[in-house]
Amino acid sequence: MDKGALASALGSPSVFGQSQFAFVRGNAFEARVKADGGAELLRLVHERLDRGARPPAEARVEVPDLSATGPEGRAARTSLALREATGTPGAWTLLDHPMLALEVAGSPAFLEPDAVVVHPDGTWTVVEIKSFPMLDGSADPAKVGAAARQAAVYVLALEQVAARLDPAPRVRHRVLLVCPKDFSNLPTASAVDVRKQRAVTDRQLARLTRIDEIADALPEGVCFSPEQPAEELAASVEAVPATYAPECLSACELAFHCRARSREAGAVTCLGRPVRAELGGLSTVGDVLAAARGEAGDPDDPAVAALRRAARLRAEALATAGAGTGEVSACR
Ligand code: SF4
Repeated sequence: MDKGALASALGSPSVFGQSQFAFVRGNAFEARVKADGGAELLRLVHERLDRGARPPAEARVEVPDLSATGPEGRAARTSLALREATGTPGAWTLLDHPMLALEVAGSPAFLEPDAVVVHPDGTWTVVEIKSFPMLDGSADPAKVGAAARQAAVYVLALEQVAARLDPAPRVRHRVLLVCPKDFSNLPTASAVDVRKQRAVTDRQLARLTRIDEIADALPEGVCFSPEQPAEELAASVEAVPATYAPECLSACELAFHCRARSREAGAVTCLGRPVRAELGGLSTVGDVLAAARGEAGDPDDPAVAALRRAARLRAEALATAGAGTGEVSACR
């Protein structure tokens, strides 16, 4: 489902994603990197990843048209272009915004890398273009890590395309990350090894529960179409358990909706996953306070014992502070 549309229909639109300014700036930078038939982009690929090959400026360069109707059509067109490019040795081929299909939990997910380059030796490289700066050759590690995880998913999708060709071309596990140089708008690039991220993502994808199994487990009549009346939609969403945590705010379009629902229920997960882990079986703020006051909870439970001790210490501290205030008042 489109979770952004669902969040808006539920009355809690997400602010998840890039700001409009960053979006426009990113697009302008990408257009600059790909100008002149991708001359600068291919130069960077040659310089950072394949110095032994003939430079693109001296070789044949292809930029195939990948337009087609719908994601399936675009994915098929991309596969065809990759097959043709791999069968044209000696040429560099730039695939601008190809469409790749990756099977996720038994269902195809369509992915659109910024670019894929087919080298003269027939190997394939994923290119990611980002608008965060590379200062003195290095960029924010958190942002580079996120870009590497994203590129690793594209590598996996490309490997599925490659596996259908005979012989299967090699998908390079070093991707090219292109960023603005220092504080300018000039592109610079770095090769990023994504073997680790690829292996982790591959394992995670293999462990995912299939979408049809998840759908089978839903209550009868549940539907998430944003077009249906708001009350029915809210009831459908309510029918599915959710465990909100503040981490959702940076990762999920439904975060505002789930946060409101979680606060209404007094769920301790609102306070973060580490707090929830410390509290064991106490899942609501009400349970925690009752356990601290000695009104509920098993005294042998380490979480309950720790809460009661904390409550005792707090009461003692407040009593001491109160007594201290009294002394000061008396002195005056
Ligand atoms: S609990 Fe978190 S991840 Fe799950 S739907 Fe809600 S916001 Fe998204």
